[in-house]
Amino acid sequence: MRRVSIFGATGSIGQNTIDLIARDPGAYDVVALTGGKNIAQLAEDAKKLNAKVAVTAFEDCLAPLRAALAGTGIEAAAGEAALIEAASRPADWVMSAIVGAAGLAPGLRALETGATLALANKESMVCAGPLVMQTARRHEARILPVDSEHSAVFQALIGEDISAVERVVITASGGAFRDWPIEALASATPDQAATHPNWDMGQRITIDSASMFNKALELIETKEFFGFTPDQIEAVVHPESLIHALVGFRDGALMAHVGPPDMRHAIGFALHYPDRKALPVHRLDLAQIATLSFRPADEARWPALRLAREVMQTGGLAGAVFNAAKERALDAFIEKRIGFTRMTDVVEAVLNKLSAHPGHIDAGITLDNVREADHLARQTADDVIRQANWNN
Ligand code: NDP
Ligand code: MG
Repeated sequence: MRRVSIFGATGSIGQNTIDLIARDPGAYDVVALTGGKNIAQLAEDAKKLNAKVAVTAFEDCLAPLRAALAGTGIEAAAGEAALIEAASRPADWVMSAIVGAAGLAPGLRALETGATLALANKESMVCAGPLVMQTARRHEARILPVDSEHSAVFQALIGEDISAVERVVITASGGAFRDWPIEALASATPDQAATHPNWDMGQRITIDSASMFNKALELIETKEFFGFTPDQIEAVVHPESLIHALVGFRDGALMAHVGPPDMRHAIGFALHYPDRKALPVHRLDLAQIATLSFRPADEARWPALRLAREVMQTGGLAGAVFNAAKERALDAFIEKRIGFTRMTDVVEAVLNKLSAHPGHIDAGITLDNVREADHLARQTADDVIRQANWNN
């Protein structure tokens, strides 16, 4: 039996992972499931999958988790240290699907045990790509991408000579506002931004799709994961979300990965790699789809893409600063303290402020330095938001 752990089990990716694992009950020995505040879901899944331990990230959720698991023999634990302890437990395959920078430390710990890490948590790559890759190499652990675009690139590269790659194109649906007039974006509400035309995902990543911060993170993730240079990586808007990425080779060929917008494809690919097993996803009827369309990813409409390019060029801790500032700007937007288009203004202001201080962005990428940059960027973002009084 394969030993598996799922970090962020109660989220959108976590639930899709559980869907696949629960279809094949004899095949998996579930070590750890982790969640945040959704204790009812965490306890239900821990019981269904007979996990050894269930961990909530939040100490104040421990009592209800204990109560929900009483008499089952399943251990309950809480807090950051408990997440790391769970990641230290031997497993063959670990899903990293916590949302945000909080996913970095448990993912690194899992790699240190030599486990295969299925990486949905793109923020790990954005904040600390070189550290994540180096940790995997040092411990001979494999990382498999779960983000659909990166899974697509990974699949298009199988059997290919990476030095023959000219460019990588990742696709973006364009999110909720792709057809809105640019002038209307400033007054967009969180509810409007949290509705995705094609994918069913968590609230934060759905809003990040509308602002293109998600694509911005993914451009950086592409650079870190595959080692391409920033000028080899581009984004294109593809409203149907059926082509997930294309890899262009020096002979002019473009290899496209086409599939339904269902995360169980990328999760299942990572779960069964290097095998391809049958997956319960919809089969595309190309004649019925008839047309696939593309539009330029306009940096005037989505300035987050321009910022991503700057972050890729700067390197170092710029990714950690970018991600942390983005997380705070997103919190402020969700809480209606700033308007939709102000999110990029906040992130740009934080990048500019911190770039002006040597050491904040160009220090080495260690877990401590990433944490420090993350902390400083959050504080700076909060200051920028407070001082600017940007509630429009
Ligand atoms: P969700 O918001 O649906 O789920 C996030 C998970 O993380 C939940 O289990 C949540 O617990 C838990 N969590 C929240 N805060 C913390 C914290 N501070 N510490 C530890 N755990 C925490 O997110 P998604 O599943 O949508 O996304 C997960 C990751 O995968 C993200 O990095 C995202 O960018 C990436 N991704 C997601 C895709 C998708 O289709 N959803 C596609 C590609 C990548 P609880 O809910 O119990 O509070
Ligand atoms: Mg993606």
